[in-house]
Amino acid sequence: MSRPTRIEVDLDAVRHNVAHLGASAGAPVCAVVKADGYGHGAAAVARAALDADAAWLAVALVEEGAQLRAAGIDAPVLLLSEPSIADIPALLEADLTPVVYRPAFIAALAAQVRAEGRGRLAVHVKADTGMGRVGVRPVQWEPVLREVAGTPQLSVDGLLTHLACADEVTSAGDATTREQLAAFDRFLATAARLGIRPRWVHAANTAGLLRHPGSRRGLVRPGIGVYGLSPDVEVVAADHGLRPALRLVSAVSYAKQLPAGTPVSYGHRWRAPSDGWVATVPVGYADGVPRALTNRGQALLRGVRRPVAGTVTMDQLLLWCGDEEPHVGEQVVLLGVQGGEQVRVEEWAVHADTITYEIVTQLTSRLPRHHLG
Ligand SMILES: *Cc1c(COP(=O)(O)O)cnc(C)c1O
Repeated sequence: MSRPTRIEVDLDAVRHNVAHLGASAGAPVCAVVKADGYGHGAAAVARAALDADAAWLAVALVEEGAQLRAAGIDAPVLLLSEPSIADIPALLEADLTPVVYRPAFIAALAAQVRAEGRGRLAVHVKADTGMGRVGVRPVQWEPVLREVAGTPQLSVDGLLTHLACADEVTSAGDATTREQLAAFDRFLATAARLGIRPRWVHAANTAGLLRHPGSRRGLVRPGIGVYGLSPDVEVVAADHGLRPALRLVSAVSYAKQLPAGTPVSYGHRWRAPSDGWVATVPVGYADGVPRALTNRGQALLRGVRRPVAGTVTMDQLLLWCGDEEPHVGEQVVLLGVQGGEQVRVEEWAVHADTITYEIVTQLTSRLPRHHLG
């Protein structure tokens, strides 16, 4: 197929970001590649992260881990949450390291390890210190740690928690992070009292790593920063030396000259402000371009920002080019650099009233991913 619309992922930027995050934290990196590497292509990103000395990879689902194995990746892979008990055989088959917290899951895991005659399985135990999503609540820390440590089929190789407000640049957010880290230290002390000496202790996501030195333990777990994107409007990736890895490019498919006042696209939400040129670009919301870019977004043509004219449609959008005649086949950059200009994922997130994470994970499978570098 020769559709000009595609994603380009700069793997040199991924390598740079992983190395930079590790150096900033002074700790080995567990590169989070869940959700197909935040839309960038998990296997290619994983290999680049390992090139840059990532010690671990992390995924959300057993099938995501199995896909890394199928791609020939044999590095340690952490499964960030417990899957259903029915998926335990697949988890073992894919040689993933599970994060555990539910007694019923822990018992089922041990039973399957025994049934398969496997050696001790390394697990990481997760404490809920204030995220309130998954993890062992404080009243259960001691019994659950005792249970895992006392199960001959399992060994506690890691202890972790997850921060709820590391990206909240407010005194309340920072206070929550301090309280969570203090609670995590109590969890670690409980484990130490029970004689548990884990090899890996980890708490920091990207925002924690960048903003909260106290969250940098023996391993850090960045996701969004690996891709060079900001965790929040107030935690700017570029200010921390990170480089965006993703470009979204297309090309002009049609060009027309319109008299002033001519309306275009669904609902006639835009009219030409003067006589001038409008370019059609074959990319739309079915590719993951937010419809919220209607009359708001901008894209690059010949290194110049051109405003989105009218409603973003399923497969196409329009750009106002004024006096400048666009030519069919000329490259259009929706995200990334062209000439001296750059459109950032962060801009789209503002227009769509969301976060960078949602923008990149919603770029659909209709867009081919090309990995460069
Ligand atoms: C997704 C995830 C991360 C990565 O978070 P970022 O904000 O993308 O850096 C780390 N830890 C856990 C448990 C996660 O679910």
